[in-house]
Amino acid sequence: MNAGAEIIPISRVKDGERIVEDMEIEFAPETLGGPAVLLICCRWLKRAMRWGDVGIYEVTRKHTDWNGRAYSLSRSADSVDADPQHVTHYAVFIGTEPADDVCDCRGHHGCEKRGHPCKHTRALRHLVEGQRI
Ligand SMILES: [Zn+2]
Repeated sequence: MNAGAEIIPISRVKDGERIVEDMEIEFAPETLGGPAVLLICCRWLKRAMRWGDVGIYEVTRKHTDWNGRAYSLSRSADSVDADPQHVTHYAVFIGTEPADDVCDCRGHHGCEKRGHPCKHTRALRHLVEGQRI
């Protein structure tokens, strides 16, 4: 684990059962030289000793009329090259309550029905609640 990285629990459904797994995030705030960057790692592969799913995103705050905060997560050029099938941006809304959180990724729509958030809303809510973003 790198300095500045944090482990937060995330629940998901695996083989029909709800499980809680670790997710690692690392956030670098916006600087004069560049945008805010968020690293999200999940699906730890025990045997391979590495994360199975690593995403690097540029984070931009967006205007919203809703009661909360809106962000755009842009996948890094390397992430897009490695996996061009997925969309390049996710729109994420963090509301006053976790139940208000919205993300336009496929994971969120599936997960919402099962009552737990996707990794994007989970990571951004963690940063918003910690007043880090
Ligand atoms: Zn999402």
